[in-house]
Amino acid sequence: MTESLDRRADALILNSYYEASAARPHADDPMLDGSLEADVCVIGAGFAGLSVALECRARGLSVIVLDAHRPGWGASGRNGGQTLVGFAKDEVIERQLGLEGARAAWALSVDGVKLVRERIERYAIDCDFTAGYLSVATKPKRVPDLRAWMDDASARWGYSALSWLDTDGIRTRVASERYLAGVYDPFSGHLHPLKYCLGLADAARREGALLFAHSPVIEVVRGARPVVRTATGEVRCRFVAACGNATIGNVLPAPVAARIAPIASYIVATEPLGEARANALIAGRCAVCDNNFFLDYFRISADHRVLFGGRASSTGASPSELAQQIRKRMVGVFPQISDARIEFAWGGFVDVTRNRAPDFGAIDPNYYYMQGFSGHGVALTGIAGRVVAQAMAGETDAFDLFAKLRHARFPGGPALRGPALELGMLYHRIRELL
Ligand SMILES: Cc1cc2nc3c(=O)[nH]c(=O)nc-3n(C[C@H](O)[C@H](O)[C@H](O)COP(=O)(O)OP(=O)(O)OC[C@H]3O[C@@H](n4cnc5c(N)ncnc54)[C@H](O)[C@@H]3O)c2cc1C
Repeated sequence: MTESLDRRADALILNSYYEASAARPHADDPMLDGSLEADVCVIGAGFAGLSVALECRARGLSVIVLDAHRPGWGASGRNGGQTLVGFAKDEVIERQLGLEGARAAWALSVDGVKLVRERIERYAIDCDFTAGYLSVATKPKRVPDLRAWMDDASARWGYSALSWLDTDGIRTRVASERYLAGVYDPFSGHLHPLKYCLGLADAARREGALLFAHSPVIEVVRGARPVVRTATGEVRCRFVAACGNATIGNVLPAPVAARIAPIASYIVATEPLGEARANALIAGRCAVCDNNFFLDYFRISADHRVLFGGRASSTGASPSELAQQIRKRMVGVFPQISDARIEFAWGGFVDVTRNRAPDFGAIDPNYYYMQGFSGHGVALTGIAGRVVAQAMAGETDAFDLFAKLRHARFPGGPALRGPALELGMLYHRIRELL
């Protein structure tokens, strides 16, 4: 693990609305102590790792999940909750996989949202899923981009559920002067991510997976029968699935770890606004996200708060300064709630690849990894877990499709990747303001 990143991540959930509003089990899962055997050892109990666990149990494989902290500690318990079809950069997917490949990848991404909805129902996970998602444009030059994306999604990638909203249309949906156009997707939506993640952990335990908390993996000894080691124990297994995301650090071989960088993103939650006031902000309470490089994303929670997320300038900023920066962005969108108190502010690291395409592959034929969901992990992690479990069972079509995506490394070691990317993003931010 990258210790300083881990410590920063710990500090960023001290005032999380999700931690305050989800019920964790009374006691954590035990720490791994001694030597155990399993068919599959999963590293990380976020959406990706728990999906692998559920899918492997469904195929009759015994599963042990090791988490350095506890389920939902990572991005899965902190994110914007936006549960989306598609990818962060759909054009990259088509450029690299060709039209047929892009259609197949898009179909899998739609399956990702279906899978979230199915799991909520099958395992009775109470996580406030709300259907409906709006992609919006704030700048005239971004309106044609949004339209082209919608046209490509329906004409090229086979997703015809989208509808176009012009300026008048978007203003009937979002009570803000900021937006010039939008695309509405009735199938994507949003949820309470920590409740969903804890529900998946509970389901995995019920399905017979063994979960261990506070058990950071320090080494994977590769071979015909890999050994996954922590400071206090080890798991001997047939397959390893590494799902430790941005904080997994040097457990993965350096060239694989260097394909993602951790980008901090922050969210604030207002005090409850009351049902009527909250409804007046976003008709139908769909999730909203703009199409800028530094995007804002927001939604209304089940208890009528605005949850507003985005980038803030993090260098040296204190938690309250970060909260103020995000609040300022929120009030820029909704000046009518400038009197609303901010009750919670938290953040985490988004696992970003250089080309924003997800990165999953095999380090060895029995050692898989998944990372780089680039802000689309809520739905894509679930299907990634299924695709990896299928590959373990010898069904490799979907896995091979994603494994074809080519990824470049970020320069610098683990400590430099985040800052280097932040500088690169600053350049884009400046260009965007021109
Ligand atoms: C603030 C924020 C907002 C976001 N908003 C959205 C959004 O609205 N929609 C969307 O689709 N995506 C969003 N994302 C991205 C999304 O949350 C992630 O892509 C997704 O949760 C990744 O899931 P994961 O299981 O791969 O990783 P994580 O949830 O990060 O889980 C990794 C787990 O591995 C454990 N771990 C790490 N190293 C080790 C080790 N060495 N040994 C054992 N365990 C280890 C950690 O403790 C952690 O529990 C957002 C991310 C952030 C941070």
